[in-house]
Amino acid sequence: MYEQSLKVAVIGAGMAGLLTARELKREGHRVIVFEKSISLGGTWVYDPRVETNALGLDPARQIVHSSMYRSLRVNLPRRLMGFLDYPFSLKEGGDPREFPGHEEVLRYLEDFARDFRLVELIRFGHEVVRVEQVNEVSHEWVVESRTRGSESEMEGEVFEAVAVCNGHHTEPRIAEFPGMDIWPGMQVHSHNYRTPEPFQNQIVVLIGNGPSAHDILREISSVAKEVHQALRASDVHFKKLENRNNIWQHSVIKCANEDGKVVFQDGSFVYADAIIHCTGFKYHFPFLRTNGIVSVDDNCVGPLYKHVFPPCLAPWLSFVGLPYRAAPTLIIELQSRWVAKVLAGKLALPSEEEMASSVEELYQHMKESGLPKHHTHQLQQNKFDYENWLVTQLRLPPLEEWREEMYFHALKKITSHDDDEYRDTWDVIGGCKDTTAC
Ligand code: FAD
Repeated sequence: MYEQSLKVAVIGAGMAGLLTARELKREGHRVIVFEKSISLGGTWVYDPRVETNALGLDPARQIVHSSMYRSLRVNLPRRLMGFLDYPFSLKEGGDPREFPGHEEVLRYLEDFARDFRLVELIRFGHEVVRVEQVNEVSHEWVVESRTRGSESEMEGEVFEAVAVCNGHHTEPRIAEFPGMDIWPGMQVHSHNYRTPEPFQNQIVVLIGNGPSAHDILREISSVAKEVHQALRASDVHFKKLENRNNIWQHSVIKCANEDGKVVFQDGSFVYADAIIHCTGFKYHFPFLRTNGIVSVDDNCVGPLYKHVFPPCLAPWLSFVGLPYRAAPTLIIELQSRWVAKVLAGKLALPSEEEMASSVEELYQHMKESGLPKHHTHQLQQNKFDYENWLVTQLRLPPLEEWREEMYFHALKKITSHDDDEYRDTWDVIGGCKDTTAC
């Protein structure tokens, strides 16, 4: 093994970019973080603006990065959201709740960046528009960026490695159904949802069943006339939710008509005013030029060894933060440590062939299990295997058992209609206020 200090570009100053910058700095690399906006924190910087194209279909639209809604409170307890060596603890004057509002996460990231002297590494207002390897032998990468205020001027700079940390909650994925173009009501993706007021007294169809779908459904049901949730699950049939005045569940949308009618696959229908697509996001790397070596196919970024390194460009190009349906903070922290140590020469990767066959094995396994390609980076039940694999690579002590218990406990609550108050009643459920139990 050898040890080396490289000049590394990090794209994005959200949670992934900040953690990656810290780890790279710790390992002695020279780091520059490119951040297109004027502040750090990425997703956690609430932006009241919405995009001109509410479904996010127009590639030329003015893009708003964050998908935060005004009322958002975190959906995992703060003990699971803190970094391993920098707990997300209560701060004077902060939001003391176990599930604080989004402002508290931003404050935490700002404190983290200040305490580890990361702010001075960030070039704010620099949007990366091109990342391309210009010399395969010396592993040189050009990173071209344009600066806010002088959009026509491009700056190019050469680096030895690039870590992509640009986030994946900005480019909407929408549900498609016959008639969606002629249906006359308002259609909006959750990316452009901020507050419930626009849905006052409306009949709303909400598509989706993830964490944002549940939050938004609860919130708009307090102002809307009726809310109809369209779900993919095969066992869902038309029903009114118990203990709710105005929420119904249906199967997926079959079609929508010019007269405002929305027909569901279970035969039920409703004349609605609005459809909200809470249907997730697409990975998007408009700046990346790899001659097809890395591509996004049906929302699978690949090929990537363990969701991080493209085998034939490793370790000079890496992606941090792609997995979802997991506690993002821990995954990001472990991945960023791995990247920094591999680049420093302190940890070795398998050969290119071995990494490529590991990726093939994953694809084959998914195929045999009947999993669609777009689930490639969804960890869910595999979350702990993946985390433990990274922990072993990094030679860290095993993760505490309470993490798994707490995560699955929270997951059940996030998408349940039975406990709207779980964030506030958490202290008395699952014994989790008692740290010896967790
Ligand atoms: P981001 O935070 O999106 O940061 C990416 C950064 O890259 C941004 O600052 C962006 O401006 C910058 N960037 C993008 N493109 C470029 C470019 N070309 N050039 C330069 N800079 C660029 N996680 C939890 O743990 N708990 C929660 O409760 C939770 N709730 C969530 C709720 C919502 C609505 C959403 C959308 C996500 C939520 N998450 C939650 C997940 C959250 O996204 C992650 O916790 C984490 O913040 C992701 O960080 P990131 O750095 O990968 O991406």
